[in-house]
Amino acid sequence: MDETLVKGITVLQAKGFQYLSFGLIGTSIELLGFFFDGCPLEDDNQGRDRFNSAIDNLFLKISPKYKRTCPCKRRPHDDFCLYAGLRCGMAHIGRPQNKIVFTTREEAGREKHTHLDKDPLGHLVLVAEDLRDDFVAAWNALKRLSSDGMTQKSVTDAFLNVYTY
Ligand SMILES: [Zn+2]
Repeated sequence: MDETLVKGITVLQAKGFQYLSFGLIGTSIELLGFFFDGCPLEDDNQGRDRFNSAIDNLFLKISPKYKRTCPCKRRPHDDFCLYAGLRCGMAHIGRPQNKIVFTTREEAGREKHTHLDKDPLGHLVLVAEDLRDDFVAAWNALKRLSSDGMTQKSVTDAFLNVYTY
């Protein structure tokens, strides 16, 4: 993970591909949630639960603002749902959906927008570099939980079919 997703997302952002990094982070949040359930990686229909599991177990401890992002348990998604707006939007149609808006740290500084706050139009702002920092913090927290035996699976399980390079 450090050598694959974390490094790749960091390099993408350094080269100016912040937009693409949202797609990778959005789908990889689901992977972080995989470690908290007892199901095989390949199981169908685990996406929403895994995504929300990562938000509940990891991201909410990094920032309570993740409460704004719809932990959609047994209810329809709202307009600020990261699962629907970030993850499904980028995985299925290559753009954010509903009331989620993407920006970069540079642009957010200029426009006075803050990560996970609403903009004047009522859209929830995601700042690429801040989301990357939260993702890395979540991954590091997951590694600690895994080594303390607090997860269902070991953090190496998801990468058994990736050659070391
Ligand atoms: Zn939702």
